[in-house]
Amino acid sequence: MNAPPKLVVFSDLDGTLLDHDTYQWTAARPALDRLASMGIPVVLASSKTAAEIRLLQADMSLTQHPAIVENGSGIIGLDGENQTPTYTKLRRQIEALPDRLSRRFRGFGDMDAAEVAAVTGLSLDAACRAKARDFSEPGLWSGDEDDLGQFQDVLSAHGINAQQGGRFLTLSFGRTKADAMNTIVAALKPEKTMALGDAPNDIDLLQAADFGVLVANPHRPPLPELPGEEQGRIIRTTQAGPTGWNTAVNAYLDMLNEHVGHNSHG
Ligand SMILES: [Mg+2]
Repeated sequence: MNAPPKLVVFSDLDGTLLDHDTYQWTAARPALDRLASMGIPVVLASSKTAAEIRLLQADMSLTQHPAIVENGSGIIGLDGENQTPTYTKLRRQIEALPDRLSRRFRGFGDMDAAEVAAVTGLSLDAACRAKARDFSEPGLWSGDEDDLGQFQDVLSAHGINAQQGGRFLTLSFGRTKADAMNTIVAALKPEKTMALGDAPNDIDLLQAADFGVLVANPHRPPLPELPGEEQGRIIRTTQAGPTGWNTAVNAYLDMLNEHVGHNSHG
């Protein structure tokens, strides 16, 4: 059996490891190469589907590591982690709701790939990957706030959580990125964990890590000060996206080398 890794890095994608505008990650390549040479796993953690994340993992040479998909509802690439997809059950429960409420919600499962491409701005190929869902259902809500409240109450009685994102209302059985991170940490048993994210839905992930990095995103208002920032357990980058990612990861690896470099587990 392999020795546990010294560190596992958990990272959000959009606005964090991927540039907000161009979706490029090449600015983070030096730090990614350094992590790879040290045998440190990088676990991608995103709202994207397994089909979408596998493509990015291949691009970044990260296919040997687990990843967190559909906002924590699922984990791919972890031995012994056999999850039963819940998408069909989720869709059935939405369809069984009173028509007055369910017809206000138009999920990706109600749309063909062309419509998903139109509402997301994705290409048709990418829309097909975004439609290949196992656990959660994003969709557009067309009712008023009162109906939305009732919809959420009824869903909640079925154990379904509804999260409002920038554009889509995403329904799932409620596991978060941090829940999935805990499962991966229990399996890999790293000495330390580092997490990077840019948005409110990454805060749990940053709080669950030994060291958290809030990557600057000039496209959203800055988050209020987080617990742990004053102690330096959580830091903010000044550079945005993959450039900030690269700087923060390199600085943390330098610091770990200084402090534990003389310890050998060989
Ligand atoms: Mg993000």
